[in-house]
Amino acid sequence: MLDRTASDWRRLAGDLDIEGRAFVNGRFTDALSGETRPTVNPANGQELAEVAVCGPADADLAVKGARAAFESGAWSEMAPMERKMVLVRWAELIDRHREELALLETLDVGKPISDTLNVDVPSAVRSIRWSGEAIDKIYDEIPPTPRDTLALIQRLPLGVVAAIVPWNFPLSTTAWKLAPSLATGNSVVLKPASNTPLSALFIARLAAEAGLPDGVLQVLPGPGGSLGKHLATHMDIDGLTFTGSTPVGKQLMQYSGQSNLKRTFLELGGKSPNIVFADADLEKAATMAAVAVFYNGGQTCTAGTRLIVQRGIEEEFLERVKKNAKNWMPGDPLDPSTAMGPMIDEAQCRTVAEYVEIGRGEGAELVFGGEQVLQSSGGHYHQPTIFAGVNNAMRVAQEEIFGPVLSVIPFDTREEAVAIANDSIYGLAGAVWSRDIDTAHRVARAVRVGTMGINNYFGGDITVPFGGFKQSGNGRDKSIHAFHDYTELKTTWIEFGS
Ligand code: NAP
Repeated sequence: MLDRTASDWRRLAGDLDIEGRAFVNGRFTDALSGETRPTVNPANGQELAEVAVCGPADADLAVKGARAAFESGAWSEMAPMERKMVLVRWAELIDRHREELALLETLDVGKPISDTLNVDVPSAVRSIRWSGEAIDKIYDEIPPTPRDTLALIQRLPLGVVAAIVPWNFPLSTTAWKLAPSLATGNSVVLKPASNTPLSALFIARLAAEAGLPDGVLQVLPGPGGSLGKHLATHMDIDGLTFTGSTPVGKQLMQYSGQSNLKRTFLELGGKSPNIVFADADLEKAATMAAVAVFYNGGQTCTAGTRLIVQRGIEEEFLERVKKNAKNWMPGDPLDPSTAMGPMIDEAQCRTVAEYVEIGRGEGAELVFGGEQVLQSSGGHYHQPTIFAGVNNAMRVAQEEIFGPVLSVIPFDTREEAVAIANDSIYGLAGAVWSRDIDTAHRVARAVRVGTMGINNYFGGDITVPFGGFKQSGNGRDKSIHAFHDYTELKTTWIEFGS
């Protein structure tokens, strides 16, 4: 499996049977309007499949089915031990289909096959298996109430949950939403991003095969502006979990207030600081500085896009990062040696190019990359790009570019590093590199983000919560803490006769 070549993957791609219909009440179905749209391979612009374009009427039907499934108790009242078995079976089925699924994700998203196979699919398997295995090991509470009384504090499922996810990590964000929401007994209506719906439809089939009752998981591809808005304003949806941009997240909070106050949890954008002190392991820090920003073409919410480097080592460190950047030249995502694929589409690549111009115009020094490449491929590729001499007030340091663009910002003191790191509307992730435990720990604590690495970037696994401070969102994906987003606390107070 591991030694497949690009031509092996191309051949396998030709054999894929791609499902583009919605998954409602346990079966694949066309949109009620019959409308479809093509989903294309970002690597070459070629059509992969026609996908159903669902709208409000499809949403109403799916929510009705999800509500009926919830009320039936077939899933919501199933013993946690039984729910566990279904989720574990589902994880095993996904694992069994990992090559096909990784290939589908690569074709739909443009992610390198080495990433989808070794990161995205295993991450989805782990999320589902871990949540399944956890659900029958969580106990409710009995508080210390007066004699002759007994109180129960229980966590009950919200009911029907809508999940809306983005295109940059479609499979793993979908799994991060579905695993805890289903484990806790909810029914879920999932809306994948319009340009990357395929992996969600693929795993929906496997969920049914694993024994998930009909209607518990509905997958509706369709546009955010109509279908997504309809779900977010729906009066019969109890919870909304979202991963995407901060502007859309703000809109969703308003929709909640304008409709039924559905519990709304948001994982949003970032502009993450990666702080390097002079005493750090500079070789490792430089390698990881490149990974932090160029992984997935910088289309990563936690990307370390602000490299905050102590004066004195700035020049030497920049040279090391530039050397590493050469390993991130974009290429064919089906080639196992490719580290970075195309941007998701032309508009995203144009945005990156515009920010390169903005950075230049602001007086930042372009020291690496800056160009669109592989123009004849039919895809939209951008070189890894580095700006030096950036001031944190510049737009390239404040705005989420969502592309492979690094801004290098110098600092003198520990306090200044923290101040720069915190001078952002976002608070999703970050890292600090230092051999001094005092410096590392104090800085890690002072930077206002949901996840902070010390001498690593992108560290963490399914056991730890993931989410943002400030305008990077609320709520948490992953770990037991994610279960809180999908449950209500219920108190039952009992009084005994004398
Ligand atoms: P987006 O434009 O906010 O879209 C995300 C999802 O919301 C898509 O499914 C989209 O549908 C839908 N949507 C758009 N407008 C909507 C509306 N008015 N009502 C309801 N749904 C709506 O974000 P994106 O461009 O796909 O993804 C990139 C963003 O996601 C970045 O900001 C990134 O930082 C963030 N992100 C955050 C995390 C995290 O965990 N914090 C992880 C990954 C990505 P369409 O596809 O049809 O537009």
